[in-house]
Amino acid sequence: MERIVVVGAGQAGASLVARLRRKGFEGRITLVGEEPVPPYQRPPLSKAYLLGEMALERLYLRPESFYAEQDIDLVLSGEATAIDREAKTVTVNGAPLPYDALALTTGSRPRHLPAAIGGDLGGVVTVRTLGDVDAMAQRFGAGAKVLIVGGGYIGLEAAAVAAKLGLDVTVVEQAERILSRVAAPETSAYFRDLHRSHGVTLLEGTGLTRLTGDKEVEGAILADGTELDVDFVIVGVGIAPDTRLAEAAGLEIDNGIATDAYGRSSDASIWAAGDCASFPHEGARARLESVGNAIDQAEAVADNMLGAETPYRPKPWFWSDQYDVKLQIAGLNTGYDRVVTRAGDGDAMSYWYFRGNDLLAVDAMNDSRAYMVGKRLIEAGRSPSPAAVADSHTDLKSLLA
Ligand code: NAP
Repeated sequence: MERIVVVGAGQAGASLVARLRRKGFEGRITLVGEEPVPPYQRPPLSKAYLLGEMALERLYLRPESFYAEQDIDLVLSGEATAIDREAKTVTVNGAPLPYDALALTTGSRPRHLPAAIGGDLGGVVTVRTLGDVDAMAQRFGAGAKVLIVGGGYIGLEAAAVAAKLGLDVTVVEQAERILSRVAAPETSAYFRDLHRSHGVTLLEGTGLTRLTGDKEVEGAILADGTELDVDFVIVGVGIAPDTRLAEAAGLEIDNGIATDAYGRSSDASIWAAGDCASFPHEGARARLESVGNAIDQAEAVADNMLGAETPYRPKPWFWSDQYDVKLQIAGLNTGYDRVVTRAGDGDAMSYWYFRGNDLLAVDAMNDSRAYMVGKRLIEAGRSPSPAAVADSHTDLKSLLA
């Protein structure tokens, strides 16, 4: 194998190429990204970078010189439009690029509101790329009225930044509670109270009927009939895996590019990792939208491209920063039937998800010890007694003994 091409220069693509070199691959590596800047971290976009507290260079995953030093061809502003699986080429900016192995780390794209309800008006923005955030920064003047559609992490993190900068913030979530896709009612309640205490108007069980305005958005009509004046709208209604290239090439798609446990797609020369890939996990298919997964899965796939034959086993972790609260999550809570609350020192709090007696996940707010202990237990497949967890006198470390 002489030539590896990686399409998608986000966290997964950048981790994959770095790992290939670290593991001694000496052939040609090309990393193709559609944005004009080298691979960068996305998490700060809706946090410190949006708040204006982080310089652009600190977003870069590696200094720009890294790619030349590692003899990695980094193609920026590169549009990959087609894969020819017979000829083993991928068309980038109109020219065929040959590969022996191809990895797709194309990530995901934000969902948009339909044009029929005003989703295409000026001033209706998403938070996904550096370009998105740079373009919206000038709108964050104190007193501006922002409507945030969607109470997931994007919506809530953007709401926290906007509230901190003195904007007039309204969040609408169509589900009966914020974070309903990812967290228990206890965690939703914690963040509902937090946002309300910072002056955010948070409306749950309320969809958006339509946005109004001529070219630029000026107002919103909510499902309950409420009419709002708005200066701009942030849309955080989820993401969809970017499978366009894979689909057009006839690869199997099943909630993302379907891979086997090693990260191979339905074409043995094409691999996939990160947000865009779904893989076998506990008898079903999983697709994880997180930085942790993008790194770990990409590294596992790089190893397998070089012949390791090691099945990928995720160790899920996530975090979110809102105001002065750091939320850290270990594990996946899918299938939980009970949530145990543990009050820590000061304002520390954690929620522990169990299915029967099995610990599945932990949400820890300003409690990094609960997070670390929970993560280690989950990764070891061990479960503490729910009663011991709930007792705030229990020394958390004793749960590891
Ligand atoms: P998300 O977690 O899927 O949340 C989107 C929310 O918007 C859902 O609660 C959804 O409710 C709601 N929604 C959908 N359509 C709506 C409508 N028309 N009106 C009002 N609410 C609506 O996605 P996200 O917050 O956009 O984030 C995008 C991705 O980035 C996710 O993978 C997220 O995990 C990731 N991210 C992670 C972090 C972090 O880990 N700290 C931070 C930022 C982003 P329904 O469920 O009812 O559709």
